[in-house]
Parts: sequence; structure tokens; C-alpha cells
Amino acid sequence: MSNFTIPETQKAAVVAKTGGSIEIKNDHPVRAPKDLAPGECLVKLECSGACHTDLHAALGDWPLAPKLPLIGGHEGVGIIVAIGEHTSKSPVKVGDRVGIKWLADSCLQCEQCRKGREQCCSEAKLSGFTVDGTFQEYVVSFVNHVTPIPEGLPSDEAASILCAGVTVYRAIKYSQTEAGDWMVLPGAGGGLGHLAIQYARVRGLRVIAVDTGAEKKELCLKLGAEKWIDFKESKDIVQDIRDATGGQGAHSAVVTSAASSGYTQAVDYLRPGGTLMAVGLPGQAKLEASIFFTVLKGISILGSYVGNRQDAREAIDIAARGQVKVHFVSRPLADLKDVYEGMKAGTIAGRVVLDMSKK
Ligand SMILES: [Zn+2]
Ligand SMILES: [Zn+2]
Repeated sequence: MSNFTIPETQKAAVVAKTGGSIEIKNDHPVRAPKDLAPGECLVKLECSGACHTDLHAALGDWPLAPKLPLIGGHEGVGIIVAIGEHTSKSPVKVGDRVGIKWLADSCLQCEQCRKGREQCCSEAKLSGFTVDGTFQEYVVSFVNHVTPIPEGLPSDEAASILCAGVTVYRAIKYSQTEAGDWMVLPGAGGGLGHLAIQYARVRGLRVIAVDTGAEKKELCLKLGAEKWIDFKESKDIVQDIRDATGGQGAHSAVVTSAASSGYTQAVDYLRPGGTLMAVGLPGQAKLEASIFFTVLKGISILGSYVGNRQDAREAIDIAARGQVKVHFVSRPLADLKDVYEGMKAGTIAGRVVLDMSKK
């Protein structure tokens, strides 16, 4: 079922083995519409964001192993060009513009799915990890889990919302905070952080941005952070945060860092009843926090992992209304190797979006 002309081969960034290099192939096969299973759809991608998780998958440095060979990517936006035959009750149709997030599919029937924790489904399919992702021109995805992109929100502006945006949006949503509360955002000037500032502001939170350098300071303050702490200049981050909040400490922190120190500090600078949202996914680091003070202060430590279908729709909707904007640079798919080098060196400001039409 398709009115689109679909080629047999395409451009794709393929990882043959973890730790090895990425190969940009021009003759990678495209799944023919007749070979789509019920519930599957073929999406012609316009662009895809590049996320740190894609680098972890390519390096294979996580406790979980990806499929191999692997096509990474989980921040894709494109048009549905075909839907598998015998698909019933599809919430989307051919011609719709949709986004593909980390959680590509889940069973929708198990306890985790029924309770809205689709990302914890034991049958979850992960884009660019357990199924091929969005670093290709045509990706197979799943009608129940693709995210409709509202008209008026450009595809390249939507791309990074699908992972970075959804991830911080959900963490803030479940942070047990109210309008007027203080939220600390370590790494506020980075890919996740700069979106977290904006989503926190949408919810009326007062933001303390922690990061380093004049450029990030300017960005954070421009996006609405009320206080700025440069972690390289600060002699005592915990004390500085307490001072910034009138001595009592912050109500919540959303920690996206890969280093365990970011989590330990949070227990110290949160006020009693505060909530630490753990969001980063370092492969090895352990959370070391004072049990004594966690108990005495009644601190909640919660993990938050990407988002479900509803979180994705809400995060995209806020962006579509212009309240959150991704700072990104656009590059061709062929630049992916170079983008990974930049991620390793920590030199990428904001996000990178790969444009499939760029040569
Ligand atoms: Zn991601
Ligand atoms: Zn399930």
C-alpha cells in the first residue's frame, strides 16, 4: 500500500562491529513495502538527530549489547511511505509526518505498558540499538509508537526533541516540583541541559544552571536560567547552590551527567523533601550518596528513562507551540564519524541534526 516510489537501495551509516568504524554505504537495501509485517511502517527520513547513546551503541561500552551489524539513530523525522498489509487500527496513515524515538515499539499489553512505563516493557524494541535506527534514508518503524509531528514544526527542529527533549521533559514532569520551586540543572549548557532549562521554565520552575564557560553562561541565561554557577570557578558548588536558594537548597535536580560526583553532590544541595532525578546512563558509575542524609532529609532518588508515547506527544507539542527551541547545527549523514569524534572530545555545543538531503 503505497503511492510513493521507493528505491531498492539507499544511503546508510552501518556499524559492522562495535568499537569499529562506521561505514557510509550507498547500496544498503530498503525493506520493500510488501515485506513489512502488520504494525510496521516504512518512513522516508528527512533528518535525524545524533545522540550520545548512538556513540555508546557504536562503541559497545554499555552493559547491554546492540544488534550487529547496526544502523544507529533514534531522533528521526520523516514521512510514512508505506504501512504493512493487514495492519489494523493504525493511528497514523501513509503521508503522515512522524518522529521516531528511542522506544521504537513495545507490546502495549504487559503490566509496564499498561501502567505507562512502555520504555520498561520486556519486549521493547529500541531504535538504533535492538532494531536498525534513523541513520539511513528509509527506516522500518512501528505505527503504534511513531510520534505525529504537528504542522508548523519543522522536521529539523523536531528531531532532537524526540530523545533529548522527551528525556528531560519526562524527568522534569516527574520531579515532584511545583511552579516557583528551584531546580538545579548540571550540564545546563549542553544538548539535554539547554532543553531542560526551557521545559523547566514552561512549568514555572526557577532554574539554577551549572556548567562552565562564557558561551554556555550566555546561552543558559538567555534561555531563562535565573542563576548561573560555573563549576570550574566555584570553590564549593553545594554551598553556592544553597546560597542561591536563600540557604535552604534546591527542590530538585535533574542530573544527566555520566560522572557519579554529580549525583552525590545533589543529595547535599537538595533541601529536605527534595528530589534527585537520575537521567544520565553511564555504563559503569555507581550512585554514591549518604544514606544518613538521604533518610534524614527525606530525599527521593528517582530514575527516569526516556519517555512513553504520551511524554513524546507532550514534549513535541510544547516545541510546536514555540516554547522550546533546540539549538542545533545541520550536517550531512556522511559527517557522522566526525560528529562522534566531536562527542568524544566534548566539543559539540547543543545538538547535531543530520540532514538526509545534504550531500
Ligand atoms: Zn538519545
Ligand atoms: Zn509491554
